[in-house]
Amino acid sequence: MSGCVYLTTMSRPTRCIVSTAALRHNLEVARRHAPGAGVWAVVKADAYGHGIDAALSGFDAADGWALLEWDKAIEIRARDPARPILMLEGCFCASDVARAARYRLDIVVHEETQIDWIARTSPSECAGLRVWLKRNSGMNRLGFDPGAFEAARERLQTLEPVENLSFLTHFANADRAGAERTSVAEFAAATPGANSIRSAANSAAVLSMPDASFDWIRPGIMLYGASPFGDRSAASLGLLPAMRLESTLIAVRTIAAGACVGYGSTYVAPRPMRIGVVACGYADGYPRHAPNGTPVLVDGSPSMIAGRVSMDMLTVDLDRVPTARIGSRVELWGDHIPVDTVAGHAGTIGYELLCAISSRVPRTTVDSVLLEAET
Ligand SMILES: *Cc1c(COP(=O)(O)O)cnc(C)c1O
Repeated sequence: MSGCVYLTTMSRPTRCIVSTAALRHNLEVARRHAPGAGVWAVVKADAYGHGIDAALSGFDAADGWALLEWDKAIEIRARDPARPILMLEGCFCASDVARAARYRLDIVVHEETQIDWIARTSPSECAGLRVWLKRNSGMNRLGFDPGAFEAARERLQTLEPVENLSFLTHFANADRAGAERTSVAEFAAATPGANSIRSAANSAAVLSMPDASFDWIRPGIMLYGASPFGDRSAASLGLLPAMRLESTLIAVRTIAAGACVGYGSTYVAPRPMRIGVVACGYADGYPRHAPNGTPVLVDGSPSMIAGRVSMDMLTVDLDRVPTARIGSRVELWGDHIPVDTVAGHAGTIGYELLCAISSRVPRTTVDSVLLEAET
């Protein structure tokens, strides 16, 4: 190998590799947890940073798509004429009502104003609407309170363009064992009858609350191979990481005991040591708050952050990587370093890191399960 692991058309050796095989596997895991339920693959935020292309291909076995960005939804509709697409935040303005009908997008209704918009749109412009009425189950963000839910349902039922009325809720604490037991029962009781089509479960609920599966599940984070739980790893849930963020060393230097590294001199060498400079920083989406000691993999060996993460670079301790040299491959997260581990060190969650991959990082899609097998 020449030692140059990136294509000359790329701007620098930092890149993001997405495995459609891992996406496919994780979708199967979700389906196994909710036998009989339809699966909306949640692809908001550019498929949690993985890209719509990879998602459409990796989740080809999904029953529908769920997101909230209208431009992306219309793009998906052009590529997938048949499957349902659920708009998780529904209409943002009155003219979205006609767009929903035109592109056959299912819309969540969480606000009285959204019902007004439907009522004000001429039925000829929005016939055949498929509406999901959202119930507030304690998140207190979106959705009708229990006391207003029934009236909203009755009002929607009188509107001519509403062809289909289904029900949805979103839990605030599905990641805490038992915390939503009452909400599940209340949602079930508020939406009874054999004809009610219902959806409640995000990833945490899919994985831990079988009675919340109802008719359609809405897994997001688990499909991308990260864990919705603070105390359970993705691997322990049978999930495969779908993204590898990687770069290379662009400099290696030896520093004396007591020498400092990076802005603010937050790392002080305890002994003479080698420091590696990696071409990846917070402008790429690596978290600036990742402290000294956050794990990275250099040339296949464990290493860790030493010094403050800067915009375009980060620095690592090469003491246990004798083979490290300029051009050595670095995994920031992926097969060996779970994104959730990096997130834990940085005081956040895997979701935030995956979504924050910046547009300057080129993305490659591969079909193998092992992200690192690809060069
Ligand atoms: C994002 C989202 C989901 C998916 O949540 P995960 O925790 O990523 O599984 C499900 N439902 C709604 C309404 C959402 O906004």
